[in-house]
Amino acid sequence: MSAPPPTLAQIASCVSGYDPDALPVAQAQEFIARLVPRVQAVQRVPIRSALGRVLAHDLISTLDVPAHDNAAMDGYALRGSELAASGDTVLRIAGRGLAGTPFEGAPGPGECVRIMTGAVMPAGLDTVVPQEFVRVEEGRATLPAGVVRAGDNRRRAGEDLAKGEPALHAGRVLRPADLGLLASLGQAEVAVRRRLRVAFFSTGDELRSVGEPLDEGCVYDSNRYTLWGMLRRLGVEPIDMGVVRDDPAALEAAFRDAAANADAVITSGGVSVGEADHTRRIMNTLGEVLFWRIAMRPGRPLAIGRIGNAVLFGLPGNPVAVMVSFYAFVRDALLAMSGAAPQPLPMLRAASLRAIRKKPGRTEFQRGIVTRAGDGWQVEITGSQGSGILRSMSVANGLVVLGHEQGDVPAGAPLDVLPFDGLI
Ligand code: AMP
Ligand code: MG
Repeated sequence: MSAPPPTLAQIASCVSGYDPDALPVAQAQEFIARLVPRVQAVQRVPIRSALGRVLAHDLISTLDVPAHDNAAMDGYALRGSELAASGDTVLRIAGRGLAGTPFEGAPGPGECVRIMTGAVMPAGLDTVVPQEFVRVEEGRATLPAGVVRAGDNRRRAGEDLAKGEPALHAGRVLRPADLGLLASLGQAEVAVRRRLRVAFFSTGDELRSVGEPLDEGCVYDSNRYTLWGMLRRLGVEPIDMGVVRDDPAALEAAFRDAAANADAVITSGGVSVGEADHTRRIMNTLGEVLFWRIAMRPGRPLAIGRIGNAVLFGLPGNPVAVMVSFYAFVRDALLAMSGAAPQPLPMLRAASLRAIRKKPGRTEFQRGIVTRAGDGWQVEITGSQGSGILRSMSVANGLVVLGHEQGDVPAGAPLDVLPFDGLI
């Protein structure tokens, strides 16, 4: 039996400066990293199905790749020790070697072999001179001094992957190059972690689903679609539970169902202080849940905890706040739960086109449009930054991250920008 997971109070006591009512983004991230478990189950899948999946074990190379020293160029293979220091080198052509049809036999002193890229190096030969440097007459190859050094244009056995060495490490999210590596080891299948199951639903009596008439005072549920998109991009299995009415029985059933079928449950809406709805209360009765106010903008309220064995992320309802909270807290947590090694996102440094007002003491994620400027980048904020303005996420191509301590930003100052490419 493994030890029971730590309680939320125990985790909180490990996070220095923990204050649920004004929690800095970094502390919230640290808490969540301590909270989330990792899926253990492993399955074997064919190479193509492994794209984007998490490698379960270190992949130890069973072969040297390439298996033999071979030619990196079309030309003539020779002994580096026979290259003349000055004047021409003249060698007799003993035969030829092609990729897949090696030269058999051992060339003697003063001999070379016509060779093509990928052909196995003939015994005793260690250098390839590219064909454009060689004059061929009456079965002899002549090359001038200084065009190659001993050992040039030869690929070493095992230089790509060495037998017995790890070719890929556990936790790797497999990319196209990795599928190629698997193939070059001759492996048809690979062990990956089970896909994480993530159930999600929207809460709020004002929400209507697409296809329904929009009643007076209502809005269409857009979070269902942004969340679905972000989860798909992350490579997890989304379980879409739609809109759940603000009704205690309906909410309780949805939470129980979600927690029984998923590794993580994501909700949007209903976690702000003073919400008239039942979401917070039901979360509290069904599980161990904390309600935070994060020192960030957009996206201040966040509920975090466990219901049954599932991790709960209660995101705010505003459409931009949902997305920003997802990138700030949920992305890394779900990757960790999937068994993936940490994958910090690359940031650009871009000069701010305008002055920006910013209060120290909270992290802001403003939507920006990054463009090239000379050798570097510049960024312009996309107009109004209201957390209900989803279009700001759509027109932006990155999030400008204004750190906790940052104050007002003068025009021209360098800013950190998280590009959306590869993220959304
Ligand atoms: P809440 O966090 O429940 O107070 O919601 C904050 C704002 O976000 C309100 O204006 C809601 O109408 C809006 N909102 C909540 N959930 C959604 C959703 N799924 N789609 C679009 N807007 C939403
Ligand atoms: Mg609400």
